[in-house]
Amino acid sequence: MRELVTRVRDTLCVERREAELIVAALLDRPRFSVYFNEPIDDRARTLLVMKVAQLKQGVPIEYITNRTQFLDYQLCVHPGVFIPRTETEYFVELIIKKTKRPPDSILDVGTGTGAISIALAHAFPSSTIIATDISENALTCARTNIARYRLIQRIHLVRTDMLKGLAAPFDLIVSNPPYVPRSRLHSLPKSVKYYEPLIALNGGEDGTKFTKVLIENSVPVMKDRGCIAIEIDEEAESDLTDYLKTNTCLHYSFKKDLFQKSRYVFLEKR
Ligand code: GLN
Repeated sequence: MRELVTRVRDTLCVERREAELIVAALLDRPRFSVYFNEPIDDRARTLLVMKVAQLKQGVPIEYITNRTQFLDYQLCVHPGVFIPRTETEYFVELIIKKTKRPPDSILDVGTGTGAISIALAHAFPSSTIIATDISENALTCARTNIARYRLIQRIHLVRTDMLKGLAAPFDLIVSNPPYVPRSRLHSLPKSVKYYEPLIALNGGEDGTKFTKVLIENSVPVMKDRGCIAIEIDEEAESDLTDYLKTNTCLHYSFKKDLFQKSRYVFLEKR
């Protein structure tokens, strides 16, 4: 396997250490095992070479290995389902920190892999969660992940557009909706714009289309003293401030991500 590492290093123009990690991830083995003198059969070798070619084209490694890490959780992910980002890991941490009373009921709009719901289910062991998505593909993936963490009894998946048809009042409504402004879609990295689902990224004209729909439709289904937490585009703060001032009487605060970009809005009904 030693020569496979060299080959991957040269094909992808990466450092040896990265090549070791890639070979290990693609073969689903520990990193040190790439230096074992184990023979690798022809079929496995061909498969690996094909996977390396996909990587070279820009396919995200998560779609090739069909897994991704989200906080402490190993999640399954496949093409057509949005790969959860570091920003959303931090989003979950902020939600947990800001939530004073453990919520009885949580709604996660546009759950994708189910990442946010799974992390919140662990943080709030007494909560019941409803997680929605419009994509059957995403729900299939979320179902696998929820089953893996034995949360089927607590996280209920619903196929719907945003929160259409949901009536129960919630203590906490969370979402990472599509929020990239249409004009910026073309400047996303190749691996994102060609391989990840556009439906999970395209936030309309100025990136706030779904955020506004979410706010408008959340207010009637949120409990008094309930909270809404939404991940947003880094340039959306002023537009959303105007919207919130004119259309709602919610108390709001914007929070920055780990790169100091305005990335989250927290809304409370007081
Ligand atoms: N932060 C994501 C990206 O830039 C976009 C996430 C989203 O639209 N929800 O790839």
